[in-house]
Formats: sequence, structure tokens, C-alpha cells
Amino acid sequence: MPVTEAAWRPRLRDSVIVQTDGGTLLFLCLADRTVKRFACDPFVKDVVRLLDGTRSIGEIGALARGDDPEAEQRVAEVVQILAEERLLSRTRDPERDFRLLGEERAGFYDRQLRLFQDFCDEGLAPETSGVGLQRRVDGATAAVCGVGGIGGWVALALAVAGVGRIRLCDFDRVERSNLTRQVVFRVGDVGAPKVEAAAARLREANPYVEVETFDRRIGGAGDLEDVVAGADVVVGAADLPTPNDVAGWVSEACWPRVPHIMGTGYAYHIGVLGTSIVPGRTACWACVRAETFADHGRDGMETVVGKREKAGAMGALCGLVGNILAWEALRLIAGLPPALGGRWSEVDFWPLEIRSRAVPRRPGCPTCGT
Ligand SMILES: [Zn+2]
Repeated sequence: MPVTEAAWRPRLRDSVIVQTDGGTLLFLCLADRTVKRFACDPFVKDVVRLLDGTRSIGEIGALARGDDPEAEQRVAEVVQILAEERLLSRTRDPERDFRLLGEERAGFYDRQLRLFQDFCDEGLAPETSGVGLQRRVDGATAAVCGVGGIGGWVALALAVAGVGRIRLCDFDRVERSNLTRQVVFRVGDVGAPKVEAAAARLREANPYVEVETFDRRIGGAGDLEDVVAGADVVVGAADLPTPNDVAGWVSEACWPRVPHIMGTGYAYHIGVLGTSIVPGRTACWACVRAETFADHGRDGMETVVGKREKAGAMGALCGLVGNILAWEALRLIAGLPPALGGRWSEVDFWPLEIRSRAVPRRPGCPTCGT
């Protein structure tokens, strides 16, 4: 809203605290730890104290310097600068906005709504209100292919965030050896279809989401047609017969309509983060494979001792990978820019470092080339 708008009731962002050493006003944004400094005078300090969304520019001017005919203009100037520096909220009363979801939902999603509001205030989101982002999440459909060590964490995070319809696809049954890392299963679920046990847990975690199950082995892109149809995002986190086979089928089923995120691997202390494939914006799966296939110089070699059937893994590390993928899925659903698209990222949990490199669209790629 322009500063000249008489109805505007400017309000400082909730993530911003303001301190002064007398000569300088420091605006510390807790959302990203940035600090912005301005010369301080008593008038500006008074104005900043009054930016709580309840007063117009004129009212702030009258309170800050009652007898000064220039006060309103000076307030407008201060507010203009703070707005340009993204220190003001884009809504005057966020809690009133949140209640548009209904009291119960507003209470359930309260902290997430505050985060979403801050994305809006920072100008990162395509909305001005956190409620707008929550409605995007509520209205979205996400599919998770493979509900195991990675997919289970993804599905749970999407459910508690409120993704309206979640589709789960897996053919497996819960085993005791799953329980150290597959967060949605309990001892009592052993022997049950993974999709059914996971769906029950998701519904317990958030009663506002619908869960659909596909108790099915994935053997090609055709097996995923109904799973991905109309979805806003798909996470491919199945590892049989191999993670790369499933990733290829997920990508084939999704291209060119549905953004998809690959959960292609976590074992021992290395996790692969994505990549995300957003048709029209990022490299396709074939380009990602072309870029990464020659890693470690193994191309064309004869295997003497192959990969073991079972790799070491633990729940804490599965959770870190899965929740990063879920964060990426929520970004795509909410209309925020992807973080894992067009690059290949691996996290090494031993030194706790992320290694990342760009994966461009190959110019001549028949799928994504420009
Ligand atoms: Zn391509």
C-alpha cells in the first residue's frame, strides 16, 4: 500500500527488533539475522515505537510531535524508507487475518502462519498475507512415491504443514528393521502395508488433511499415472529396484506438467538433496543424469564387488534429508522459489557440510533444452 494511502496503518515486521545506542537505530531482522542501521533522532525513535498497525500516518505524526505542522510529512518519509528496506509488515493485523481460516485452524497453524507472514513481509512470496500461503498449502495435492526412510519423513512434514491431499505410494510391508529410521511406523504396524500404517499416522498428526493410498509396486512410469495426475508436487523417494530407476520413472510420469523432487539417496553419512525438477525452469532428469553419471570416474567399468543389499542408516539422518526435501516441496506448493532446482547437492553429515554444484540444461536436450 502506498504511504500516501490514508487508511494505511503501518506496522513493523514481527521478526524485527529495534535497538539504539543513542546515535544510531539498529533494526535487527531475526528472520535472516540482517542488521540495518539508521541515524537516530528522538522523533524517529518515537515514530518507530508507534508502528504497531493501529494508527494512521497522521495519528502517528500527532502523537510523535503534536505541534509540528511538518510531523505528518516526516512520518511519511520515515515509513517510506522502512517500507523500502522491507522492515514493515504487509498486513496491519496478522492475527485477524489468520482467523479467516477459522479459529481452530488458525490455532493449529499459528506458528507456521507467522513464518508464512514473514515470507510475505520480506517480499519472498507471491502473496501479502501468510493466510494466502496457508491456503495454497491447504489446496494442494502432493504425492510421495516410496514411504520409507526418506518418504515417511517427507509425508509427515507435509501432513503437519497442512498439505490438503497427500497420496502415498508403496508396495512394501512394515518390518521391525524399519523402525529405527522410518518415523511414521510403530512396533504395532509390523506386517501392515506401509501406505496404510503411514496414512493412519498422518491422519492422527493433522485431522485437516486427506490421505490417499496406492499399495503398489512401481515398475515403470505407467504405474504412477494416477498417483501424479493433477498433483502440485511429487517426491520420488522409492529405492527399488534402484533409486535412479524410480527417479527416471517418476520424472517420466511427471514431465512436463508436475514439479518433482528426487529423494535419490541416503546411506551411511551421505544424503542427496534433490534435485528438484521444475518443468520450464530447471534441468530435466536426463540432464541431471548426464551431469552426474560420470561421478567418481566409474563410467564403463566392470564391477568386481558390487553394492551391498543393505546400507547403514539411522533415523536422525533420514529425518534431516527427508525434511529438507519436504521444505523444498512446501516451497514449490506455496509459490516460493525452489532451492534445490538446477543443482546437485549432497550433504556429508560427518563434517556436516553441503557440497553443491550447478546442473545446467544441456542446450541440445530434447526434453528441457531451450
Ligand atoms: Zn534436459
